[in-house]
Amino acid sequence: MNREPSIVSQIAAKLNELQGVLPCAICHQTPTLYTGVFIPNESSNKRIGSPKRKTRCVFYGLCEKCFQLPDKLKRIEQGLFYKFTVH
Ligand SMILES: [Zn+2]
Repeated sequence: MNREPSIVSQIAAKLNELQGVLPCAICHQTPTLYTGVFIPNESSNKRIGSPKRKTRCVFYGLCEKCFQLPDKLKRIEQGLFYKFTVH
């Protein structure tokens, strides 16, 4: 029997723990009102440098102002890839 907590409950616990702690993924201010998680697909997983057969979930904060942006998801994703790309 598998006694490991499911990935979903692990993510939920982490989101709870990080509530308000992480800087905003777009404007970098703290504290933030929202906490989100980016779960990459296979090609995104490579771009953020996850080890093989592992998925690296990226947690981020979002402030009230940036939450209102209509293109917030695109901007968050671009910011995350910028962070995980060597320049
Ligand atoms: Zn913000």
